Amino acid sequence: MEKNKCSRAVLQEIQKSLPSTRMLFSEPLAKYTTFKIGGPADCIIFPSSVQDVATVLSLTNEQQVPLTILGNGSNVLVLDGGIRGIVLKFDKDFAGIRHEGARIVAGAGALLSDVSTYASKQGLTGFEFAIGIPGSVGGAVFMNAGAYESDMSCVVNSVTAVSPLGEIRRFSRQDIAFRYRHSVFQENHYVVCEVEIDLQKGENNHICQKMNELTLRRESKQPIELPSAGSTFKRPPGQFAGTLIDQAGLKGFKIGGAQVSGKHAGFVVNAGGATAQDVLTLIQEVQRRVQNQFGVLLQPEVRVLGEESDH
Ligand SMILES: Cc1cc2nc3c(=O)[nH]c(=O)nc-3n(C[C@H](O)[C@H](O)[C@H](O)COP(=O)(O)OP(=O)(O)OC[C@H]3O[C@@H](n4cnc5c(N)ncnc54)[C@H](O)[C@@H]3O)c2cc1C
Repeated sequence: MEKNKCSRAVLQEIQKSLPSTRMLFSEPLAKYTTFKIGGPADCIIFPSSVQDVATVLSLTNEQQVPLTILGNGSNVLVLDGGIRGIVLKFDKDFAGIRHEGARIVAGAGALLSDVSTYASKQGLTGFEFAIGIPGSVGGAVFMNAGAYESDMSCVVNSVTAVSPLGEIRRFSRQDIAFRYRHSVFQENHYVVCEVEIDLQKGENNHICQKMNELTLRRESKQPIELPSAGSTFKRPPGQFAGTLIDQAGLKGFKIGGAQVSGKHAGFVVNAGGATAQDVLTLIQEVQRRVQNQFGVLLQPEVRVLGEESDH
């Protein structure tokens, strides 16, 4: 869509249909991403109900306004020119967590760490793997986020999502077509609103102990003290991106404020004042050097959103 298509008048028209929904205009997005990078959104909407989401989707479809979904912003690189149209951001109004027996029902905006802690308090095991993943439940389903030999596909029972036309639909685990860092939502553009997670009864002490162990493992290996979007690249079959990058001599390699972490070569970090362009240039240089040396083209796991800056 061309830049001028989404005028302030159209956005204000949409605002009239959502009088009680939080909306901000020309909002810088760096504060909504764990990279701490990103230009402004024309408009950011914080939905508080599935009906809000359905209304936004049907109106953006009708008015041809571009729409981008943001969870906790922990797997995205928002470009320096920002995002045209509407950003639908899931946060605390969508962060409810409840349980029925061993089934947890969480809103798309609930943080994985909060679901892990909630599960441990109920004596439910199976979600410990997610304790250190800084995403929302919606973003985690979209990405099939995982760690330590588990991922969302192991625990999700069903998802309630809204279609690009604004219709509410339930997806079973089979419908979601989970694969490594993939779900059907990457193709069908439905918006995840609520997720049912099936766990098992466990021993509270054991669950907490496992969560503590995984947290320590993460803290010792990952540069969590610096802004990043986690692993920059997907795992190439049978290999580790971080090992290839390390063997290419790229640990600590820097372009502008973007740097290949010296602690874990699989992470690009914002070492201070990085622009999205710095990160993109660094990603391309890492891809080029690793491909030249090992014949492997690394595929980004981080999702690039928005548009480049004019200057
Ligand atoms: C320090 C660090 C460590 C990490 N460790 C891991 C790890 O161990 N394993 C792992 O898998 N990931 C890891 N990540 C990456 C990231 O946390 C996960 O991919 C997470 O699931 C992303 O969730 P999010 O809510 O932040 O999504 P976002 O980054 O906000 O969005 C990611 C994508 O999902 C889409 N999306 C978000 N919410 C929805 C929704 N409700 N409906 C439809 N689409 C949606 C967005 O449009 C975007 O394309 C790490 C990141 C960091 C910064």
